[in-house]
Amino acid sequence: MKVRSATIAGAGIAGLTAALCLARTGYQVDIFERATEILPVGAGLQLSANALRVIQRLGCLEELQALASEADTVTLRSGSSGRIIATVPVRSQDGTPYLSVHRADLHRVLFSEVTANPQIRLHLGTGVTGVELRENHAALTLESDGRVSSHDTPLLVAADGIHSAIAESQGFASPIRSGFTASRMILPASAANHRLATVEAWVGSARHAVSYPIHSGTAINLVFISPDMPDADDSGHKTALLQQFSHWNSELAQLMQIADYVGQWPLSTAPVQRPYHINGVVAFVGDAAHAMLPFAAQGAAMAIEDAAVLAHCLHTYGKDALAQYEAQRRPRITKVLKRVRFHDVMYHMPKPLSYGRDLALRLTPKEKLRSTLGWLYDWQPPEF
Ligand SMILES: Cc1cc2nc3c(=O)[nH]c(=O)nc-3n(C[C@H](O)[C@H](O)[C@H](O)COP(=O)(O)OP(=O)(O)OC[C@H]3O[C@@H](n4cnc5c(N)ncnc54)[C@H](O)[C@@H]3O)c2cc1C
Repeated sequence: MKVRSATIAGAGIAGLTAALCLARTGYQVDIFERATEILPVGAGLQLSANALRVIQRLGCLEELQALASEADTVTLRSGSSGRIIATVPVRSQDGTPYLSVHRADLHRVLFSEVTANPQIRLHLGTGVTGVELRENHAALTLESDGRVSSHDTPLLVAADGIHSAIAESQGFASPIRSGFTASRMILPASAANHRLATVEAWVGSARHAVSYPIHSGTAINLVFISPDMPDADDSGHKTALLQQFSHWNSELAQLMQIADYVGQWPLSTAPVQRPYHINGVVAFVGDAAHAMLPFAAQGAAMAIEDAAVLAHCLHTYGKDALAQYEAQRRPRITKVLKRVRFHDVMYHMPKPLSYGRDLALRLTPKEKLRSTLGWLYDWQPPEF
């Protein structure tokens, strides 16, 4: 049987998961990653069961669980009073957990699986700087340590993130600034008196915060979403942020004071009209295809789902594989983006509208809140 080969640009969550899924279906995979070493970038991630079923299929769930914390519920609180507005069950009936984890821990688990796989070759310090599409293959220009080389591939998986050089080389529309910035802080769980031991979303007018445990529960990740604060460097930004949230719940405000500031992420999204494939030769996965605001905690989860569906389509549909990949992913991503917009409205409601929201949520049974998320969390990966 002819061995099929694929090339992946980018070794983030999308690229590593795609490599493992494709290797499972028999592909020989080359990954080109422009960073020279794998650094613990990012901060916390929530991972729902839809994504974790893929991680489980890849044999990585147990190792990840040891580094993560399991949540039964996500608690919605008023940012100002701290009062509980709703408790949404997130655990799945099939027993697949809902985890909170540091991105670096998830990345490390995938990375060690990739480096142990004889079908995958990882080339660090090698950026994809040019792509020309020819009949039935892509001709890549690679740059490594100032040296330029070329590489031909019958299948290019673009997993090079929101500012995808591959999307840009094909004339795709640029990412769109959202007007929101995410600011991240971390503190030891002991300093938080082991409060915030589960996933909590603190909502307020035009801004919200999310807190959850990471590093096997030994640390707490705090994320603050607020309107952009132009021209602030990191120290000015932390001061401005403390100011903005100073009238919030005193417990949260105190924890902000003692937490280590990780950094700020101005949030952008991928234009929705971006294609997810070109000519049966290039497939876009993860943020390169559909970077989204993190309000539903699904960006990495969708990247992980993409990888499974891409492998399934390549395994099942022959020359129509990439068209099928887009046909299967687009309706789901569209639905997730709708949920993100819903959270944007719900989380950021000003008073007095928020009183109506709070009342409606308090009157909604927990099971109903969970069932409205069934389509998202109960998703099963296809065979690959
Ligand atoms: C504040 C915040 C909170 C979030 N919370 C959650 C959450 O709770 N749950 C969730 O599921 N998602 C969450 N997300 C989203 C999630 O982090 C992203 O969707 C996900 O990490 C995207 O992964 P990716 O591999 O597609 O892209 P990236 O992580 O950007 O990886 C791209 C990789 O490609 C490499 N690269 C780039 N250009 C080139 C090139 N030309 N050649 C070679 N390599 C290249 C980069 O160095 C990088 O390693 C959050 C995001 C933010 C900002």
